[in-house]
Amino acid sequence: MIRETPFQEVFIPEEFDEEQLMIKQTCVDFIDAEVYPKLDAIDAQEEGLMQQLLDKAGDLGLLSVSIPEAYGGFGKDFNTSMLVADAVGAGHSFAVALSAHTGIGTLPILYYGNEEQKQRYIPKLASGEYKAAYCLTEPNAGSDANSGKTSARLNEQGTHYVINGQKMWITNGGFADIFIVFAKIDDDKNLSAFIIERNFGGVTMNPEEHKMGIKGSSTRQVFFNDCMVPVENLLSERGNGFKIAVNILNIGRIKLSAAAIGSSRKVIDHATNYANERVQFGLQISKFGAVRYKLAEMAIRLFAAESATYRAGQNIDDAYEQLVAKGMDSAQARLKSTEQFAVECAITKVWGSEMLDYVVDEGVQVYGGMGFSADAPMERAYRDSRINRIFEGTNEVNRLLIIDMLLKRAMKGELDLMGPAQSVAGELMSIPDFAEPDSALFAYEKRVLQNLKKVGLLVAGAAVQKLMMSLSKEQEILMNIADIMGYVYLAESTLLRAEKLVHMRGEELVKGQIDIARVYLHSAADHVYLAGKEALYSFAEGDELKMMLMGLRRFTKVEPFNSKEARQRIAKQLIEANKYCF
Ligand SMILES: Cc1cc2nc3c(=O)[nH]c(=O)nc-3n(C[C@H](O)[C@H](O)[C@H](O)COP(=O)(O)OP(=O)(O)OC[C@H]3O[C@@H](n4cnc5c(N)ncnc54)[C@H](O)[C@@H]3O)c2cc1C
Repeated sequence: MIRETPFQEVFIPEEFDEEQLMIKQTCVDFIDAEVYPKLDAIDAQEEGLMQQLLDKAGDLGLLSVSIPEAYGGFGKDFNTSMLVADAVGAGHSFAVALSAHTGIGTLPILYYGNEEQKQRYIPKLASGEYKAAYCLTEPNAGSDANSGKTSARLNEQGTHYVINGQKMWITNGGFADIFIVFAKIDDDKNLSAFIIERNFGGVTMNPEEHKMGIKGSSTRQVFFNDCMVPVENLLSERGNGFKIAVNILNIGRIKLSAAAIGSSRKVIDHATNYANERVQFGLQISKFGAVRYKLAEMAIRLFAAESATYRAGQNIDDAYEQLVAKGMDSAQARLKSTEQFAVECAITKVWGSEMLDYVVDEGVQVYGGMGFSADAPMERAYRDSRINRIFEGTNEVNRLLIIDMLLKRAMKGELDLMGPAQSVAGELMSIPDFAEPDSALFAYEKRVLQNLKKVGLLVAGAAVQKLMMSLSKEQEILMNIADIMGYVYLAESTLLRAEKLVHMRGEELVKGQIDIARVYLHSAADHVYLAGKEALYSFAEGDELKMMLMGLRRFTKVEPFNSKEARQRIAKQLIEANKYCF
């Protein structure tokens, strides 16, 4: 929001090296060979099948990509583990089981466990011998996770914590060997975290939940009745549980976006194939503008989400390297580096999951009646997609967090938002610059982008000044500001990726990507205008409102752009390749 990023600074997926692509291919092959043929059996929760698949994935090393070698893993970087989440992401319920195990199930121990705990659990989790689940949510503590009632009490001998309580919506609950459980010790205000083995006793569960989608993923209510947990299984320190939950969720969020990217790619492949095959009115439906629009728009949103997600993933890796170079312990550096990009994790979660919902919805539409048939692939994709806007923090909670985290950083002096916001406010009084735009490639787009950032600063700055402390209660305005930030981040990531590609491959070979970046930027400008207008209407009035609306119009002004033709060109490439090809 406050500075221009040169394209050299961002990572783009086209830069993954051979080894990383080989790891990705291993995952794709695994999903094709082991998961797709069994989708119906998985969704019917055939006894033992999900565990067998996880075992096979473990044998291939897919559960241990980012686990350090010292604990039986491959010690790969964060973005490689994102690539795995992406490749496995198209695996429906299996993808959910795998990511719950490798992410929220395993990482709390890897990042917060002491050496003894890591030695005891991580190698077995890495191989798949142990399967893991994460128990935070309770019937009355969902988004408000720190309000959980599950209790922990030290027994008289001081050897065990006695855990009592009920957890809800627990992924992998039906078969997990290890549960990461959040509970409050005595009357503590904050949660603590515990590693609980199923065979400690006192762990029971309800039957499987009946769900709209991801039917093959085990989801249970789990009860802890006088469950005796050895004191050495307290994770980290007493009262540190909420921090653990939040930090692990940061990682889960961006990985969810990676998984949404993988799912979307598969859906676009199917939709493109179908559009090329299906004939109506004597023509393949891929010849119709209405269908081409859909295919192109699906690809545009996927490309944008992908650009933002891997850019942030690499930022996390780079921050990690810097922290380690300064002498920080590896686990600590993993957490700190993700925390630094927690805003981006939340943005990619929201935009990734909403992109997937758009893609599956239009995927159903391209298939027409067959989209509604359970015998064709869209029906499952449509149902399975919807959960992504709910778990790992609902999209509303994540939008609130984006702004909350930014403002907190500004207040702590870590981020100068108010200085740039004031200079944008000052610019409103000045005469606009009518200079002819630079004709260099992307010069105009960069100016548009810079102006969209000014809208973010203008609206956020004015809202903070006007509403002060009550801004945190004005959720509609916070949603508007989060939308502005998100669209700007994705538009910038897309543009920088296109620019870098031009430098890598030459303009001629990446015309499609340039079209994508331009279409996305222009629709982002419209979204930013709408969100800005709604926000300003709700807290400003009179001359002040007039002046800010003038600024809003000025900063969202774009030159006429024929997005219809650009989408036609994008669709043509997809249709000729008969798959997602950007
Ligand atoms: C299939 C599935 C698998 C899951 N797996 C796990 C798991 O493995 N482990 C685990 O611990 N949990 C898991 N969850 C729980 C999931 O994380 C929660 O469902 C989610 O966090 C939302 O909580 P809730 O369902 O209680 O909804 P609520 O918190 O009751 O939210 C209801 C609505 O109110 C909105 N809302 C709530 N608070 C606010 C607020 N402050 N401001 C604005 N809007 C608000 C929400 O956005 C939402 O739209 C899973 C859930 C499902 C459905």
